[in-house]
Amino acid sequence: MLLRNALSRKTRTLFITSILLAAGSSVQAVSYANASDVGGASPGVASAEQAFVQIGASTKEARSRLADLGVSIESLRSDSVWGFASPSVLARVKAAHFKVLSHTPAHLLDFPSQDARFHNYQEALAALQDLNAKNPDITRIQSIGKSVEGRDLWAFHINTTPEALASGVSGKPGAIFMGNHHAREHLSLEVPLMLAEYLLTNRKDPKIAALLDSRDIWVIPMVNPDGAEWDIASGSYRSWRKNRRDNGSGVFGVDLNRNYGFKWGTGGSSSDATSDVFKGKTAFSEPETQAVRDFVDAHLNTKVLLTFHSYSELILYPWGHKYNPIENTRDHDVFTKMATTMAKWNGYTPEQSSSLYIASGDTTDWAYGAHGIFAFTFELSPSDGWSGGGFYPGAKVIDKVFQDNLNPCLYMLDVADDPYRVLGTQPTGGLHSYVEPWVDPALRW
Ligand SMILES: [Zn+2]
Repeated sequence: MLLRNALSRKTRTLFITSILLAAGSSVQAVSYANASDVGGASPGVASAEQAFVQIGASTKEARSRLADLGVSIESLRSDSVWGFASPSVLARVKAAHFKVLSHTPAHLLDFPSQDARFHNYQEALAALQDLNAKNPDITRIQSIGKSVEGRDLWAFHINTTPEALASGVSGKPGAIFMGNHHAREHLSLEVPLMLAEYLLTNRKDPKIAALLDSRDIWVIPMVNPDGAEWDIASGSYRSWRKNRRDNGSGVFGVDLNRNYGFKWGTGGSSSDATSDVFKGKTAFSEPETQAVRDFVDAHLNTKVLLTFHSYSELILYPWGHKYNPIENTRDHDVFTKMATTMAKWNGYTPEQSSSLYIASGDTTDWAYGAHGIFAFTFELSPSDGWSGGGFYPGAKVIDKVFQDNLNPCLYMLDVADDPYRVLGTQPTGGLHSYVEPWVDPALRW
């Protein structure tokens, strides 16, 4: 069965860095970083204490246990995982009799940065303002709330109905594209930003025009601006993941993708504030997740939602908080059909997110669990952290990663009117010309 065989299906050769060679790691490995959650090192007091560790774990249950203990799993292979752990997390891991195979201070993982093309907070806003200035008739910029440090969380609205644009409320079927929940995943901001640019640049294309005329489109490219700014603030990357909540005692950050309020705190997250998967004191304790919640609650015309993360090249769908598949078999069929169809374009691996390990409190479990929205997480390129640069693959990959994901995004927009129609056999969509030649003709729906 597709969902459970992901690990064995995806065997990759890793270019192991000196860190791993020093730890005696094997070169042939099954590589997976979790999608929703890869841990990070923190700068400052908390980050200086983070370590990048390899821990023996050969089953998803063992990996889930490690996540429960507070390890933010970065990548995994058949016999072990790599991830970030604070000293207290590491102490619990050892007390639980896991074997720590390697241990590296996280600050050694910093990448030098000449990635000027990536957008920081101000540049992202400027890009949205530029798109808005060029397309004032069908776009609008709106703040949906403020971050912990008071930055506006910008949403970019594309709607061809003036009343809907003015009010921010539309009766058209809605699609939401989000990025940058996790600070260091800068590529996850670029892709939704480029999607907005693509749609507007090509708004005269009949097929794009048809989508724009019939959909309510929202792009929220930077859900975690404080963290993203912090990650780059020193001039070299800090591998920061969380937001910038002051937890006291010099410890910062809540994992926004563990803070959503559906089955919150039921596994794969931590109550340890130093953990990179710290779930927060309560569900929706953070203003960033509150803003997304309130926004979605006020836009229940939303049919599809895509939240970008990096890295691992995965297409993930609920459930994340438990191993069981979605109970509604028709919905489950829609998720799997959409995921496998989109994977034909970007080549990513489609699977239920808990097939990696349990993670609760993420965006997609909440969006589907609370509102029935067909919500997906894309883990963008690279496929692994060693040969591809992990969170920091460089500006050279931006165009390719966007191109890889353009058709999946257009597909999501196309099916947003009625995602259940993907189960039918009739080609009711309008994206035929976007299907790459190598795609199985059976998928030219
Ligand atoms: Zn992420």
